Amino acid sequence: MKPVFSVVVPAYNEQEVLEQSYERLNAVLAGMGEPFELIFVDDGSKDATADILRRLASAHDNVRTLHFSRNFGHQVAVSAGVDVAQGDAIVIIDCDLQDPPELIPAMAEKWREGYEVVYGKRSQRDGETAMKKFTAWAYYRVLRALSGVPIPPDTGDFRLIDRRVADVLRGMKEHRRFLRGLFAWMGFKQTEVAFHRSRRFAGETKYTLKKMLRLASDGIFSFSDKPVSFILGTGAALAALGALWLLILLFVALAGHGNGLSALAALMVLLCGVIVLSLGVLGAYIARTYDETLGRPLYIVSERHGFPEEGEQFDK
Ligand code: UDP
Ligand code: MG
Repeated sequence: MKPVFSVVVPAYNEQEVLEQSYERLNAVLAGMGEPFELIFVDDGSKDATADILRRLASAHDNVRTLHFSRNFGHQVAVSAGVDVAQGDAIVIIDCDLQDPPELIPAMAEKWREGYEVVYGKRSQRDGETAMKKFTAWAYYRVLRALSGVPIPPDTGDFRLIDRRVADVLRGMKEHRRFLRGLFAWMGFKQTEVAFHRSRRFAGETKYTLKKMLRLASDGIFSFSDKPVSFILGTGAALAALGALWLLILLFVALAGHGNGLSALAALMVLLCGVIVLSLGVLGAYIARTYDETLGRPLYIVSERHGFPEEGEQFDK
């Protein structure tokens, strides 16, 4: 039967939580009384995640699994799940139960009222360091100021999207993706449902600092060209300042008081810093452009289980 709800669950080394996530998701979705499918995307896990998923897919008709050939990252795993989802509404949820499955019925209700994107807003966050909360808070304010894209603060990727939104996303081929930015950019009728984000059910975070930084820079560089304008402005201001300074030094020297060596040295260091920083920002845009021109696939699926046979359609 064609599912009304698809749930996309990315999983990277999640052997400790998978069974529990399945149980809770299944219980909630079964309680909603509509046909549904659970799509787990194994993002190149190195632990028993793949085995557990194969077992779930063979035991339950509505569990489908995609297995990547290597780790492609959370945002790509979610995109792959959305690519194969058949439902009229698609829910994106983390596998570690930090996003409560029990919120899905409330999201579905908003969807029935006509909203096309219903995102979970974290009213409270447990088990996260003050540092993470602060950097997240600051980051969203900076991003908002830079990009002008109204990315709602305190939201993650936990959300329900309508089929139409999923189809638009499927047409977006960019590699360096920042999904919450893309959803905000798309528009549509959006609303929120508040929830209390609890700590991880088990295991460690799979978002290393490196992955976090990459996501943060993807957010900025894909949604704003202000860093480049900023460089241009800074460069122009510094050049003007330098010219003025030289003129003053010239007069000072003419008056017979020429000693500005240390000041010059300091100035040099400052200017070099600005130049290298500017090159870095330009480089970031060039690297992204290069990445996209290569035209490689966004992800590589090495195995899939639980999907209807090739060519076979769900009976309506
Ligand atoms: N994840 C993934 N690929 C990765 C890193 C994470 O698919 O490279 C998944 C992970 O299994 C989880 C979700 O993304 O379902 C969120 O990751 P995590 O809970 O580690 O992040 P945090 O909640 O600490 O920000
Ligand atoms: Mg988590």
